[in-house]
Amino acid sequence: MSDAYSLLINGQRYAGANGTFEVINPATETPVAECPAASVQQLDQAVEAAQSAFESWQHSSDDERKACLNAIADRIEAHTDELAQIIVQEQGKPLFLAQAEVGGAVAWTRHTASLELPVKVLEDSAERHISLHHKPLGVIASITPWNWPLMIAIWHIMPALRAGNTVVCKPSGFTPLNTLRLIELLSEELPAGVVNIVTGDAEMGQAISEHPGIQKIVFTGSTGTGQKIMQSASGNLKRLTLELGGNDAAIILPDADVDAIAEGIFQTAFLNMGQTCACLKRLYVHDSLHDALCDKLTDLAQQQVVGNGLQDGITFGPVQNAMQFQKVSELVDDARRQGATVRCGGEPQAGAGYFYPPTIVTDLPAGCRLVDEEQFGPVLPVIRYSDVNDAIAQANASAEGLGGSVWSSDITQAQKIASQLDCGTVWINNHAEVLPHAPFGGSKMSGVGVEFGEEGLLEYTQLQTVNIRR
Ligand code: NAD
Repeated sequence: MSDAYSLLINGQRYAGANGTFEVINPATETPVAECPAASVQQLDQAVEAAQSAFESWQHSSDDERKACLNAIADRIEAHTDELAQIIVQEQGKPLFLAQAEVGGAVAWTRHTASLELPVKVLEDSAERHISLHHKPLGVIASITPWNWPLMIAIWHIMPALRAGNTVVCKPSGFTPLNTLRLIELLSEELPAGVVNIVTGDAEMGQAISEHPGIQKIVFTGSTGTGQKIMQSASGNLKRLTLELGGNDAAIILPDADVDAIAEGIFQTAFLNMGQTCACLKRLYVHDSLHDALCDKLTDLAQQQVVGNGLQDGITFGPVQNAMQFQKVSELVDDARRQGATVRCGGEPQAGAGYFYPPTIVTDLPAGCRLVDEEQFGPVLPVIRYSDVNDAIAQANASAEGLGGSVWSSDITQAQKIASQLDCGTVWINNHAEVLPHAPFGGSKMSGVGVEFGEEGLLEYTQLQTVNIRR
């Protein structure tokens, strides 16, 4: 497999000018493959290729771009098994979830192909005609994380292309292989230079953020990195879409039906081993339901089959990398030391691999890190409340504001509570559902801008007002 991966710049495959680095399988802690390590000179080449491809791609018609995106969707779909296998090996999620990730990538590509760039007429009078048009920006850089690496690359690249931009992408150094293969597949449907890929970590990310030939960065990752990008991007006033961390709260109202909601809560808290930006990460449960719901969640956690995602019957994979694994262990140990109850899980699994079983923690004291920090792993802190206003205040007492949810049998009451949550998306009787037609983005420190739908597409454009005097 090691010879199979290369950078792709201007339609050509290249080895990394900085040699290679190992990509580690989190289920075995053994190397999956060597990944080419790009140099900053190769980034320059990629940006030049994208600039030159932009000269003609920006003038391609809507129909041409839609056809390209649909052909890309077909090509990705035809390679579902290959891409899913790569994802499991470097990311760790179980195969069924990796297949769902590829399926999501296909669906998002098709939906983005179907979007229109609207032209709005503001005035049509005897004096003048004023209209608003959306022009592409130029070269877009995409910087992606390791949790849903293929899907998030698609979320960045497809609207950029649909709007007439060209792209340089940089995947996470933990999970670059699926995106290298994805870009090869894309390049078979696109003119040379329209999509390019470089690799690397913080240093390359910094070089991208500062690069004067890039007009916009779309970034998904941690809040700290997002802040660095914002600072480095100021040289040429790059446009930014930043999808950052979240510490989503869910509030369970006293009239909720525990039997009906337990499975949904479990799945949306532990989706992708809890390594999903929009996972439910703090569960506030009314006193009257607390014990019953915790019992159900503990049962569901204990039913999971933890192991290597390529093996049959596995429902729960490893944490993606050693750093994250240590962070999760540390947060649970800290909560335990402070007197919290670990209802299930709570200890790393012995042997190779970053396996940490699904863990439910209750009786957490105020100020506990497991509640206040984004754990981004397979742990759910459950907090008991008796006054709903107190639960709302605690839910909002976070610097982050990605998503939130309210669970109740009374939708009107749930909506009243939901409207008081300070976050970019609020779900009722659900959580973490992202859809290609529903704009998604964070409030407060969870980000800038939105992705998906027409609103997401327009973030890849510059507004031009055309004022015609009559
Ligand atoms: P990260 O910020 O460590 O890395 C993300 C990407 O940024 C990687 O490609 C990395 O190489 C690159 N990078 C690192 N330093 C950089 C720098 N100085 N300049 C530019 N780029 C740099 O994040 P991660 O650990 O890969 O991902 C986990 C985080 O991502 C969590 O906080 C999670 O909530 C967040 N996330 C958010 C969303 C969302 O939509 N809001 C989605 C998924 C993940």
